[in-house]
Amino acid sequence: MSHQDPETIARESCTLLKELVSREKPLTPRERMSIAPQAMPAQDPLLRRRNMTEVALGYTAEQARIESMRCLQCRNAPCIDGCPVRIDIPGFLKAAAEGDFQKAIAIIKSTSLLPAVCGRVCPQEVQCQATCTVGKGLKDVGKAVAIGRVERYVADLERECGLTRPPAVKADTGKRVAVIGSGPASITVAADVRRAGHAVVMYEAFHKPGGVMVYGIPEFRLPKRIVQLEIDTLKAMGVEIHTNFVVGRTRKLKDLLEKDGFDAVFVGTGAGLPKFMGIEGENLVGVFSANEYLTRSNLMRAYDTGRADTPIYPSRKVAVLGGGNVAMDAARTAVRLGAEEVRIVYRRTEVEMPARVEEIEHAKEEGVLFHLLQNAKRVLGDDQGRVTGLECLRYELGEPDASGRRRPVEIKGSEFVLDVDTVIVAIGNDSNPLIPSTTDGLKVTKWGNIVVDETGKTSIERVFAGGDIVLGAATVILAMGEGRRAAASINALLQAE
Ligand SMILES: Cc1cc2nc3c(=O)[nH]c(=O)nc-3n(C[C@H](O)[C@H](O)[C@H](O)COP(=O)(O)OP(=O)(O)OC[C@H]3O[C@@H](n4cnc5c(N)ncnc54)[C@H](O)[C@@H]3O)c2cc1C
Ligand code: SF4
Repeated sequence: MSHQDPETIARESCTLLKELVSREKPLTPRERMSIAPQAMPAQDPLLRRRNMTEVALGYTAEQARIESMRCLQCRNAPCIDGCPVRIDIPGFLKAAAEGDFQKAIAIIKSTSLLPAVCGRVCPQEVQCQATCTVGKGLKDVGKAVAIGRVERYVADLERECGLTRPPAVKADTGKRVAVIGSGPASITVAADVRRAGHAVVMYEAFHKPGGVMVYGIPEFRLPKRIVQLEIDTLKAMGVEIHTNFVVGRTRKLKDLLEKDGFDAVFVGTGAGLPKFMGIEGENLVGVFSANEYLTRSNLMRAYDTGRADTPIYPSRKVAVLGGGNVAMDAARTAVRLGAEEVRIVYRRTEVEMPARVEEIEHAKEEGVLFHLLQNAKRVLGDDQGRVTGLECLRYELGEPDASGRRRPVEIKGSEFVLDVDTVIVAIGNDSNPLIPSTTDGLKVTKWGNIVVDETGKTSIERVFAGGDIVLGAATVILAMGEGRRAAASINALLQAE
């Protein structure tokens, strides 16, 4: 990211692009490798600490073309192997390098349904960009072709020019499919099944559809209007969406099949059940799960104090427990909600942090303090039951554990107290047990994730599942990939009949 003045970036990239396209011969691989990676213009950290608008400002057309010219068009395209939905990456980069942005987005959309979302939140540095030849050649994955940024540019351009069109829907088949949940897995299933001509009804527990993309990931990383457009596209395709509808309470899963006449059901209910530390003081006033904190801010717009009446805790000193994207999102949201000091407390080192490198950097730029090799032991409170501090322990790294990461080992007698009034627990999520506990015969793992076969089918006939409810807390693109697989199986099942 660059905090250089966006006008300067635009001017410089115009000059460079003119120079590159005026060359008489096509660029050689060496010349392509020598083009500097295009920096993403970003909001100044001091300004963005006080607003919720998007941090990354997006490439200009010139930057998108220059960045695409860095691609070597490798015949074996290792980047495609790194992409969970196997987008034709060299194909869309070639089109973008030639300035044919319409073709570029068409190539992406033939495989991926949510490019504007994935271009923003996919962990490209461990997926397509990790395997990119340019990054490897330059011995720095950070210098790989910025595939996600070009993807974001072409998707934004199509949307902003009003060129987004709902996919064509085949003639009505008379079959009906219920989709439970409205996150990326369910959106993908709804679109793919509807395209085949089947009627689709989506049931969402919250009052707004979109799943974690709406209630979890903050506006400053993923503007909600982008997710809303995907929901509007589903509606334009004829998908019926019912909100405030909790399957397992409002209606049981089997009722959908046995009483409501659906021919198949997809369960995409995510992993929305927050884990807690199980330490003393965790029930004090001022301790939140990251889910609750982020839902209040994002979905219920608590930050919009003039217009929304959602209460949110008035924090001065905040400790966020955890080192993943959720922890970074919670810490950066606390900064924007006006906390004076925000600390991440994580029991390993930054190398083991599961959060995206970009999110860690952004959090640091915004003033979040990192307490590494430390972990909470108990939350301290006053006689009113409010948080007054966090007792922590120091850790060192031992041998690798089952995850391959070095195990944190506590240092006996290293207790110390952090002065905080708010503690946000962001140590992971489990699957919500509501549907399995109200559906006889639905097989789950010991962690509560629904068991599916290689087609996405569960232990119950006509019931499919995918996304975080199957994988455990994962990523948007993996949820989409799971949705694609389940939709193909549902379409095959219904067509065979
Ligand atoms: C704060 C946060 C930040 C993240 N950041 C990233 C990131 O940067 N990049 C990335 O790739 N991934 C990120 N993730 C993970 C990613 O968002 C998830 O992996 C993805 O959204 C999972 O999609 P899904 O469709 O399986 O479920 P979800 O998006 O979780 O959607 C499930 C939906 O089902 C609804 N539901 C649940 N139970 C019921 C029921 N009984 N009846 C009806 N509806 C129900 C829920 O309300 C929810 O809307 C993040 C997650 C969080 C929490
Ligand atoms: S690996 Fe990198 S350079 Fe090669 S085709 Fe993919 S994006 Fe282009």
